[in-house]
Amino acid sequence: MRRKIVAGNWKMNGSKALAQTLVSDVQSQTASLDNGVEVVIIPPAIYVGDVVANAGGSLSVGVQNVGQWSSGAYTGEIAAEMAVDQGCQYALVGHSERRQLFGESDDVVAQKVGRVIGAGLHAVLCVGETLEEREAGRAESVVASQVKAGLAGVAKDQWQRVIVAYEPVWAIGTGKTATAQDAQAMHASLRQVLSEMGAPANEISLLYGGSVKADNAAALFAEPDIDGGLIGGASLVAEDFVSICRSVP
Ligand code: 13P
Repeated sequence: MRRKIVAGNWKMNGSKALAQTLVSDVQSQTASLDNGVEVVIIPPAIYVGDVVANAGGSLSVGVQNVGQWSSGAYTGEIAAEMAVDQGCQYALVGHSERRQLFGESDDVVAQKVGRVIGAGLHAVLCVGETLEEREAGRAESVVASQVKAGLAGVAKDQWQRVIVAYEPVWAIGTGKTATAQDAQAMHASLRQVLSEMGAPANEISLLYGGSVKADNAAALFAEPDIDGGLIGGASLVAEDFVSICRSVP
């Protein structure tokens, strides 16, 4: 059985107050869900401590990024070990905003995946094609090459720490969601790529992200290869995020 996961990526949004009120609300309204969903909150790193303090044991917590080094003179960076130290279980790696705005290459992404897994966290590798790549018929090959490069260093006994989030760049923050059928097709293709890499593909949770909202989550999560979602904007409103968590079958 694959884990069902709904993770809220706050990006550079939120506040200490939100880390208290929203997290308490989400915690109290999801703790008794019987659909087995694991709910993960991924705030800006500076609020991780506040979120952990309000997570009440039933929510998991993650960071949006880590440095590719273990420690040292890297001003402004945080290490995977520090996220563990603060009570995190997850780290996003290779979000398209990191790739596009901060120039993260597949090579850097692979190094970060190594650090994250080595520290004992679950790595959520984010992959996805741009609109231009999709229109050129290259969506599947782009995503396949990001997965192969990002996960190239994963050892046989580490796959249980890997999650892949398919987030088409054109669907992020745009209100345009991939249709459930298109997302399912990409997830099936991703599973095939993972299997070719020697990974236990049927045990790896694959999340969809990109304009997931309360009113489209259920159709996406009903697809056989979509094991949950990575939610941006809608994770900042407790009611919407809880509704998405409830949409997991
Ligand atoms: P939106 O849900 O705001 O489109 O963001 C998706 C995302 O990038 C999550 O990591």
